[in-house]
Amino acid sequence: MLAALLIDLDHLLAEPIYDPGRCSIGFHPLHGMLPIAVYIALLVFPRARIIGLGLIIHIVLDAIDCRITNGIWYVF
Ligand SMILES: [Zn+2]
Repeated sequence: MLAALLIDLDHLLAEPIYDPGRCSIGFHPLHGMLPIAVYIALLVFPRARIIGLGLIIHIVLDAIDCRITNGIWYVF
């Protein structure tokens, strides 16, 4: 579950660090389609499953936040 918190470090790479009107999904380097595909792939491996699950939960929460504030799920 620690890895799910580490993914938020890529939020720190953005300027400004927190913008309530910004959509995280597709904006931050670890919130793109390719990383999401990797997180889903982690579910296949029993040892990595909890990490993948934590990361996916994080992505889903970010997507819901984006949906509520911007009306979209994903920024290209
Ligand atoms: Zn995030």
